[in-house]
Amino acid sequence: MNGIEYLLTNINNISGIGTKTASLFKKKNINTIFDLLWNLPRDFIDRSSIIKVNELEIGKVQTLKVLVKKYNFPRIRNLPNKVICEDDTGTIDCVFFNSYEAYIRKILPLNHEIIISGKINFFNKKYQIVNPTHISTDENSIRKVQPKYSLTDGLNEKKYQKIINSVLKNLPDLDEWLSKDILKRFNNITWKNSILELHDSKNYKKKGNFLNRLIFDEILSNFLISSSIRSKIKKIKKTKKVFDNKPINSVLKRVNFKLTNDQHDAIHQINNDLRSERKMFRLLQGDVGSGKTIVSLISSLNVIYSKFQVAFMAPTEILARQHYKLALKLFDAHINIKILTGKTEFKERKEILKSLSEGKIDLLIGTHALFQDKVKYNKLGLIIIDEQHKFGVKQRKKLSDKAGRNCDVLVMSATPIPRTMIMTIYGDMDTSIIKSKPKDRKEIKTYSKNDRNIDEIIKFVQKNIKNKNQIFWVCPLIEESKKVDHQSSVKRYESLKKIFKNRVGLLHGALEKDQKDKILLKFLNHEIDIIVSTTVIEVGIDFPNANVIIIENANKFGLSQLHQLRGRVGRGTKEAFCILMFKTNLSENAKKRIKILKSTNDGFKISEEDMKLRGYGDLLGFKQSGLKNFRLADPIQNEDLFFLAEKEVKKIEIENKNLNKYHSLLKLYDRADILNDII
Ligand code: ADP
Ligand code: MG
Repeated sequence: MNGIEYLLTNINNISGIGTKTASLFKKKNINTIFDLLWNLPRDFIDRSSIIKVNELEIGKVQTLKVLVKKYNFPRIRNLPNKVICEDDTGTIDCVFFNSYEAYIRKILPLNHEIIISGKINFFNKKYQIVNPTHISTDENSIRKVQPKYSLTDGLNEKKYQKIINSVLKNLPDLDEWLSKDILKRFNNITWKNSILELHDSKNYKKKGNFLNRLIFDEILSNFLISSSIRSKIKKIKKTKKVFDNKPINSVLKRVNFKLTNDQHDAIHQINNDLRSERKMFRLLQGDVGSGKTIVSLISSLNVIYSKFQVAFMAPTEILARQHYKLALKLFDAHINIKILTGKTEFKERKEILKSLSEGKIDLLIGTHALFQDKVKYNKLGLIIIDEQHKFGVKQRKKLSDKAGRNCDVLVMSATPIPRTMIMTIYGDMDTSIIKSKPKDRKEIKTYSKNDRNIDEIIKFVQKNIKNKNQIFWVCPLIEESKKVDHQSSVKRYESLKKIFKNRVGLLHGALEKDQKDKILLKFLNHEIDIIVSTTVIEVGIDFPNANVIIIENANKFGLSQLHQLRGRVGRGTKEAFCILMFKTNLSENAKKRIKILKSTNDGFKISEEDMKLRGYGDLLGFKQSGLKNFRLADPIQNEDLFFLAEKEVKKIEIENKNLNKYHSLLKLYDRADILNDII
């Protein structure tokens, strides 16, 4: 068995680990020996120096050399046994709950000098150690620095230490994968060295370099995997798309605005990709309301004019309908546009599938239903995925493969994130970014209001309705379960109905498609003034006339989510408002979030603050992205290492090296299981 194989074997193979222990480890996501190594000590406990009683610090783990003076065994239920010990400066009690006298007499024999170590308490004016675990006449066995691991219930420290020690003893040497230059930056520390060092209690205060080497490995492996997917996709030769300016001009004639420079740039970059013989695999990123939809529709039209079909996938049915309507409005009548979702009726669906495979449909808009096996395209030339940040690398790769040789891929994301995160999550793609929003946009004024002031909010709504404005009223999920998630919205709907009569509509996930459509249409035609909804409106929906959004229980939402919700308004030229409702007793964290939202409309700033508050892994929708899988690397803390890894990968790409040298690295870190696909 070679080194890598050993590291990737199941922990069952370690002696001392039976199925029961293995299942405990499994709960901590530790399956292989390699996984086990990553459970790095949380802390080190220094029991090495002997402290005198008069120098003890309460709350700390400390070690003493004491004389056992006296037993105090009360023999009354619930009263602990005590052993009074002393050194030449004072006395300390060892307190035992649930220990037998005989045992205590054995480990703490009267009038003997003993080493004891434990957490120092102070009780009834006396120092004490409760249930001491470290007691011995042998100094060396106690006076050590000990690593402290995070353990699962049912696993004790001693056993764990034994297991990890045996693994560390058998740790294989691996061939070095880092280049000489990079290795030098980390003082030529090998992988094995780093692991040993980080588990070792010697020099436990100076782990920085060892840790950095491992963090770098982790980032590098992620980037290399992305880079190989990318180069694999780039090698695919496709039929170039051929089109002129006619499509874009015909669309622009039908909208009442001019494109921003960033929109033009994005279209230009996409067009270059479409016209090239390399397959496009591009991310279009832009904050909410920056105008990504029009860019993607223009791209669609270009592809349709070059005689290919386009599939446009939205994350929700509502959004798909909206894109569909917009496309109908913007495209010439001879272009055949259809919509397909999970709720499309059987008969209609059958017809759509038939004409799709015959090439009679030019643009198919829909939800996940677009990529079910039964859906066969005749000549698919472009896939667009809107608000797709819930996808991981692996899913994207699959999609691209499935799309076929001639099919370009454009994905759009509205979550503004720092560059280190783009590199990590979208390293397999080229990126276009729309930074600036359309010029005439006004800042959304954001206020917070206590629940108790609902009367003021109602007045505010009434005033806005008088001014011909429309209002979103968002109620949060009460529970994760779909069934109950709309209860709060139903309640609010009913109370608002009493005031606003039939000018209020209700929208939530459990409604039938017809009902949803009816309400949205009513809202669009301004037959109703208020939509009460759950977060189904969170992503993408565009109602330029809606300029007030009220978010109940705003503290239930994360920052980025609130920003997305707020982005539903302020899309037209009218002044827009966001009111964050909350109950009393806000946590400090919730207060901070509300403060940040009030202070800025800049999605980049907000996501950065969000990451500072919650850690990058919890950022909206990134749970499945693969980012969460980093064990050590942090795109904010380790920014420099991310940039270093980016440079290194570019170098490797340019030198066009094969990845054999990195095989061990990739194999060890291939947590998305995509290695087989790419090498
Ligand atoms: P997002 O990037 O969040 O998907 P949308 O594409 O839905 O944003 O666009 C938001 C709104 O901005 C829409 O009403 C759209 O018509 C409008 N819009 C798009 N581009 C411009 C522009 N250049 N000038 C003015 N309004 C624009
Ligand atoms: Mg959008």
